Amino acid sequence: MLLDRLTQAAAERAERAMTRRRRVTHTACAPHQEVSHGCGEPRTLLSFCSNDYLGLANHPTVISAFAEGAYRYGAGSGASHVVNGHSLAHDHLENELARWLDSHIPGAQALYFCSGYMANMAVLSALGTAGATLFCDKLNHASLIDGALLARAHVKRYPHGNTTALARLLAGSDSPLKLIVTDSVFSMDGDIAPLVELLALAERHDAWIVVDDAHGFGVLGESGRGVLEHLALASERFIYIGTLGKAAGVAGAFVAAHATIVEHLVNVARPYIYTTAAPPAAAHALLASLALIAGAEGRRRRAHVAQLIGQLRAGLETLLACHAEAGWQLADSDTPIQPLIVGGNAAAMALSAALEADGIRVTAIRPPTVPEGTARLRIALSAAHTAGDIARLLDCLSAIVAQREAA
Ligand SMILES: *Cc1c(COP(=O)(O)O)cnc(C)c1O
Repeated sequence: MLLDRLTQAAAERAERAMTRRRRVTHTACAPHQEVSHGCGEPRTLLSFCSNDYLGLANHPTVISAFAEGAYRYGAGSGASHVVNGHSLAHDHLENELARWLDSHIPGAQALYFCSGYMANMAVLSALGTAGATLFCDKLNHASLIDGALLARAHVKRYPHGNTTALARLLAGSDSPLKLIVTDSVFSMDGDIAPLVELLALAERHDAWIVVDDAHGFGVLGESGRGVLEHLALASERFIYIGTLGKAAGVAGAFVAAHATIVEHLVNVARPYIYTTAAPPAAAHALLASLALIAGAEGRRRRAHVAQLIGQLRAGLETLLACHAEAGWQLADSDTPIQPLIVGGNAAAMALSAALEADGIRVTAIRPPTVPEGTARLRIALSAAHTAGDIARLLDCLSAIVAQREAA
């Protein structure tokens, strides 16, 4: 009975071109990567689908630090943070992250988590208690949506980036604890939340702001400290989540917030308490990664990505102008997330498949990850890409669209 139902559901997914299949990567995360379907022979593909925006996942300094951390602290942490799993490496990392965010969140402390998903579940469930209200952007990441489900708070959603609608909701609420919850850089669109306005609203309505900077940390800001540095914002009202498996190239996430909030999370956040601490080696590697991000190398890498973004956008704008009938749209983004909106699920899958036939991998993103009718190729750029890689992607897209028109 269960199996029949699931088989039926799988058939319906297939019908709507929504089946998800995993690939197997045989080599490190890098633009040129050996990838196979299942256990078949791998092919080398040029990939535009990692979130390794600075190319640090495969950086020799970070890899050495990971190995050194494993020799020093062993492979696993052995227990949760609150029992016996909180190592010196975790502690150093938290102190360093707190120092990074201190000028944007006065008196901030930081708390390291195994993943961003868990950090978001922890923050929203621990703070969003009965009586509180969460004001959530409609395009928030799934982990914030799930965190809101776990919370006992009221949840109100406002249209994407719409501060007028949010202001109305805030004004109409008599909740004693208001939390505005938003991605900083929206993961499937690449645009940046209006945090300056959100902070003004938070001050006017005595609200807090939970900001998930998964795609901004390491990438945005002069020294890579993320969206708060980028927008020159400072306030105790920020409860900041940065993830460390994307631009930082390793794994995990952290919350930076007022010390009282962090202390509360350590004591009541179930996704923090009831899980084994991440390997200390990951924290040790992250210390090396943070040094790269803030230093000359990080600056150079951010400048290089910015150049690639410019090259890709200029190329795509020309291409779309020449082939308007294809109906493709370039999202308005100046971050390394550059979505090419195609529309239908099958069309997005077909475009992704055509690129893959040419040796290029760009994932198609379909509902429910994005709204119906806006299936897209999510082109993610990294400092590890070259101008030649971008040119190759543009050439292949042109060839595909020209061939379609001829057919
Ligand atoms: C990736 C992502 C997360 C989850 O972080 P993980 O460390 O991968 O679990 C949370 N929020 C956003 C916006 C993300 O893109």
